[in-house]
Amino acid sequence: MLMEKERNEIVEYGKKLVTEHLTKGTGGNISIYDPEQGTMAISPSGIDYFDTKPEDVVVMKLDGTIVEGNRKPSSEHDLHIALYEKKPDVRAVVHTHSMFCTVLGVNNMDLKAVHYVLADAGTPSVPLAPYVTYGTRELADAVANTIGDSYACLMKNHGMIACGKNVASAFSLASNCEWVAEIQWRCLCCGTPNILSDAEMAKVLHKFQSYGQAPEKK
Ligand SMILES: [Zn+2]
Repeated sequence: MLMEKERNEIVEYGKKLVTEHLTKGTGGNISIYDPEQGTMAISPSGIDYFDTKPEDVVVMKLDGTIVEGNRKPSSEHDLHIALYEKKPDVRAVVHTHSMFCTVLGVNNMDLKAVHYVLADAGTPSVPLAPYVTYGTRELADAVANTIGDSYACLMKNHGMIACGKNVASAFSLASNCEWVAEIQWRCLCCGTPNILSDAEMAKVLHKFQSYGQAPEKK
């Protein structure tokens, strides 16, 4: 089976989308890209995350050709393809209909630095792409043209998308964006949120580059 490890990861993280309340039903989708093979593994369209098996995950090229898999790929495969084309360092994309990111997008708001954790997106704020019908190349282009230097983007009246160097980091960014979006929403409900300055976020971005455990000494 082609991309077996990646297909297993997509099954595993698909379940996490539901258990960690980042999506409802079959909403959202996940892909992983292998630049050496030039192939992308992506969730199948419309199959319950808890019924999806590795063989249901579709392997396709970035030109849209299906290389392996009997299922239809996610209706948003063009969205994933557009992001791999736009950001050559990205290896995984997570798209969700998470509640608070969607709420902000419906209100025509981008995601602001109400908490320093938003620096995980690589930019001081996360932009909002205009509304375009789901599953279209036009939507894919709208998101790719809006995301800029960020690794996440809200999608008006739809949801959000997060990119990463692997599926764990893309998923973690989607989760962090949702947490920050909930804080922004809660703060807007009872006052005027204080937004961290771009200069402060630049400091945090710098610190995030060396965050975590130092690499093991060989
Ligand atoms: Zn969607």
